[in-house]
Amino acid sequence: MKVFVIADMEGVAGICRWDQVVAGKPGYEEGRILYTEELNAAVRGAFAAGATDVVVMDCHGAGGDRSFNSLVPDLLDPRAEFVVQTRWTEYTGFLEQGCDAALFIGQHAMAGAERGVLSHTVSSTNWHALQFNGVEVGEVGINAALCGTWGTPVALVTGDDVVCDESVELLGPGLKTLAVKRGLGRFSARHLSPATARERIEAAARDALADIESAPVYDPGAPCTIEVELATSDDADGYRHRAGVTLTDPRTIEATAPRWWDAWRAVYL
Ligand SMILES: [Zn+2]
Repeated sequence: MKVFVIADMEGVAGICRWDQVVAGKPGYEEGRILYTEELNAAVRGAFAAGATDVVVMDCHGAGGDRSFNSLVPDLLDPRAEFVVQTRWTEYTGFLEQGCDAALFIGQHAMAGAERGVLSHTVSSTNWHALQFNGVEVGEVGINAALCGTWGTPVALVTGDDVVCDESVELLGPGLKTLAVKRGLGRFSARHLSPATARERIEAAARDALADIESAPVYDPGAPCTIEVELATSDDADGYRHRAGVTLTDPRTIEATAPRWWDAWRAVYL
């Protein structure tokens, strides 16, 4: 069984400030350790469920050379491999090879979500809202659509309670989730202790992978229209001459393609 751990930093227990997730800030090194140990819990759970290959992919844009490069390699479970990419959603090799399930660890809610800890969609400042065929989605939707492009189901989502609810609403009641903190606001939360969060993630990953038949495979629909409402009109100007992308109003861009993946590549990659 091949398992892909798709990781973000904002949804980790103990993390609720930008200071802990932005490269160069005083709290970043603490955040990296909390992050890596939650990923290790998922890796342990995957191997306990019978995984033979586990690949961890960091999807957190920490800034500069730390973007998609925040986990602490020396602390990572030696049985796992890990991917450092230059652009988020760029690496698809493991999915293309045929991946049995994905575990989404450390996820956060979409931009504007009430109580969503460190909530945003792609950019914490430049993106207001994202829709796939008229359905508003956050980053879990993007990761799920990426996996779904190659038929890989989402076995588990972890993060705060807000992203767990958002994920069930998008992917359906068959989705398994685990909240490691309750959002109180964008920068406040009631957390599980990191030790308890890791125990529960390990168990949840193991149990979810023992029941992957019920894990949802997400398809936003075909053809697929992706709409991004940006914060300001100058954010949209950079898309004016981009192939496949149209401006539908001064700060909204749109791309339509036969498959989600092609529309996403037009908008983002
Ligand atoms: Zn992130």
